Amino acid sequence: MNVASAAVTPMMTQYLEIKADHPGALLFYRMGDFYELFFDDAEAAASALDIALTKRGKHQGDDIPMCGVPVHAAEGYLLTLIRKGFRVAVCEQMEDPAEAKKRGSKSVVKRAVVRLVTPGTLTEENLLQARQNNFLAAFAEIRGTGAVAWVDISTGELRVTPCPPVRLGPELARISPREVLLSEAAERAMTDIVEEAGASLTSLARSSFDSTGGEARLCRTFGVGSLDAFGSFARPEIAALAALVDYLEITQKGKLPLLRPPVREEAGTVLQIDAATRRNLELTRALAGGREGSLIDAIDRTVTAGGGRLLERRLVSPARELAVIQARQAGVTALVDDQVLGEWLREGLRRVPDMDRALSRLALERGGPRDLAAIRDGLIGAEALSRLLGTDLPGILTKAAKALAGHDALTDRLDIALVAEPPHLVRDGGLVAPGFDEALDEARTLRDEGRGVIARMQAEYAEATGVAALKIKHNNVLGYFIETTATHAQKMLSPPLSETFIHRQTTAGAVRFTTLELSELETKILNAGGRALEIEKRIFAELAAEIVERAAEIGSAARALSEIDLAASLADLAVSEEWCRPEVEAGRAFEITGGRHPVVEKALRAQGTGPFVANDCHLSTGGDEPALWLLTGPNMAGKSTFLRQNAVIAILAQMGAFVPAERARIGIVSQLFSRVGAADDLARGRSTFMVEMVETAAILNQADPNALVILDEIGRGTATYDGLSIAWATLEHLHGENRCRALFATHYHELTRLAEKLEGVENATMAVKEWDGEVIFLHEVRRGAADRSYGVQVAKLAGLPPSVVARAKVVLAALEKGEAEGRKTALVDDLPLFSAAAPAPVRTEPARSAVAERLSEIHPDELTPLDALRLVYDLKSLA
Ligand code: ADP
Repeated sequence: MNVASAAVTPMMTQYLEIKADHPGALLFYRMGDFYELFFDDAEAAASALDIALTKRGKHQGDDIPMCGVPVHAAEGYLLTLIRKGFRVAVCEQMEDPAEAKKRGSKSVVKRAVVRLVTPGTLTEENLLQARQNNFLAAFAEIRGTGAVAWVDISTGELRVTPCPPVRLGPELARISPREVLLSEAAERAMTDIVEEAGASLTSLARSSFDSTGGEARLCRTFGVGSLDAFGSFARPEIAALAALVDYLEITQKGKLPLLRPPVREEAGTVLQIDAATRRNLELTRALAGGREGSLIDAIDRTVTAGGGRLLERRLVSPARELAVIQARQAGVTALVDDQVLGEWLREGLRRVPDMDRALSRLALERGGPRDLAAIRDGLIGAEALSRLLGTDLPGILTKAAKALAGHDALTDRLDIALVAEPPHLVRDGGLVAPGFDEALDEARTLRDEGRGVIARMQAEYAEATGVAALKIKHNNVLGYFIETTATHAQKMLSPPLSETFIHRQTTAGAVRFTTLELSELETKILNAGGRALEIEKRIFAELAAEIVERAAEIGSAARALSEIDLAASLADLAVSEEWCRPEVEAGRAFEITGGRHPVVEKALRAQGTGPFVANDCHLSTGGDEPALWLLTGPNMAGKSTFLRQNAVIAILAQMGAFVPAERARIGIVSQLFSRVGAADDLARGRSTFMVEMVETAAILNQADPNALVILDEIGRGTATYDGLSIAWATLEHLHGENRCRALFATHYHELTRLAEKLEGVENATMAVKEWDGEVIFLHEVRRGAADRSYGVQVAKLAGLPPSVVARAKVVLAALEKGEAEGRKTALVDDLPLFSAAAPAPVRTEPARSAVAERLSEIHPDELTPLDALRLVYDLKSLA
């Protein structure tokens, strides 16, 4: 666009200049009480927000499309836009419009972008989920070695970990950031990975990722001479951290949020779980999409937002270090042993506000009086909790107790400075308590007495004029004025009263006056009110600065509160659900007695269809031998539930929680893999079989001897013999090469023979009872192989027509007989396909039967269950 064109107004020139600096964002251009959007921005925003698109003036002969949102309601609109994947540049007026007018009639109000709102850089309470972190991540790669750094600017948490490029997908699945920064160079190769993780991608110039300049930038940010103070960082780690800081400077326009010193997560300190496994196990999201039905939903008993966020972080990153796990367990155990203490702690925690987020808003100068109150109430609550925690508790709790105390000077000051429940906005005034500041008290008295004086003046005037209905009122246009009804006005409009009462305005039914006396008083009152507000603003800024100065200590107290909340909530869960403390150890044991699946158990309870049948899983063979269980049993018998519950127990144990079992002994798991169902991928239109093979390949290529692998129905998506052979070979590979602990559920009974051949492979089966031709699932895992598959009975339960079930039984009997006689391949010849009536030869050579014809056209892999059923009807009609 030609900015210099004569037709362009000065305001449009300013707009276009600012817009040119923010090409990737919608520009919210402040005009009075509105943010206005123009041109393409207006069109995009109007349709995304479902608001009216109008026009405002012309640009080079064409109408300018325009839409606007009121400033007071902007947060809601921002949220919608961010959710829909936009980023927004907020451009404010940087001076009073009166100032601009003084410079000349053509002069435009100074404006500047004060903030770039992106999915990864939100701080407003309304834009954030209280119980979820909002992470911004950056990936950097230098000559083949990589690192991911991530930050939540609403809490200041900053972390970094080495991450080879191939591990980026799983790492993003773990961190689950809202936004990921990549350098322009890496963008092409990594876009899919970022999209797969559901994050929005932002590409930055290569210079943002420069590790040399970055180191200096980081040192400046943290006020240290060298990063060694925080640990030793590899170059890609510094580059990723530097990119985050650079981006924050860009988006926050120089106002850096409070950042805690970077914490480095060493490779190998957390249990590795890939993206598919996280999805399958429904750790933080159910397959259906939401939090409901997920593991976290079933186990979250935290009472603070910070505790909720910590639970999620622990659950997605269970530890691998024995000492860390045991320290966390000790905290939970202490509160299981002393339930009264646990309940007291939880009671106190319920009253503690979210200090982390209040702190970060104050640091970014986006805070309000309620954030000051949140810090005050949080620190007072913390102090009270520290007194509850004695000294004879495990390290994790005593350490937390220490961080809770020692904020007296600040709390005392906030306590006397603030009213109990301050207003939302500073400009509303009334946040500072009486008695805190002498000048403020004086101004307030004058302001408030002024009101009393006005009331007295009204009474005097009513008396003097004899107009009882006379009122002194106030509005924004006239200020204070005297109002009478039209009937009484005549008296006041004529002498002698008209000498004192000066006519201002006549409205329908009322006449308004002022007096010299009243306008003098008004000035006094207004000045006092304005002065009081100025003083309150100053005090607010001072208190905010004092808080920010102590940010590190307040942050530690907030973290300690979250830690206590988590321990107390896990203890509460353990007691009420009768969970046990698992023995976590270095070896490769996996001995679960009476294990349960918390989510399925909760669902059964809610439906009233329980109880959940607890099951054992003893995978240990001792020493370095691989240990595999081959689990057979009909569909719906509870195989997947059993598989998942053991994976979930391992995760819970390593996050430091108790586990849903009577007893558990677990040698630390290094990696967790699962291949359970692929329904979600079906929805994305990928071939189930392909997805299954890709995931299986990943497991076979990666699982180490300390891994725990869970495979459900491998090879099901293809023809029987293909599937069987794949399952067979997979099992052998897990046993011979990966040599890990594994649970393998299958409907291929042929595989059970492997248990005789391979050391460490055992058969287990889901017990069922047959009663009167019906099958009853006992949901009980027993040693040994299933004697039959009960598929036909399950089909009956599912409501297949009786004729089909009856026929299937005949076919099955014939097949089983054939198998027993070792004539598997000749079966087809014996069996009249799909004709329940007279036996007839299947092959009517040379011309093929209509049934065979139809059969040759179908591809079983591509059939949905419904199609298959229709096909059965079709075939029946052909027979
Ligand atoms: P499969 O994988 O063998 O087809 P699932 O594990 O999906 O079976 O289980 C089917 C249903 O059986 C579950 O939805 C649940 O309602 C019930 N179920 C599974 N395991 C148990 C159990 N241990 N105790 C009680 N009910 C169970």
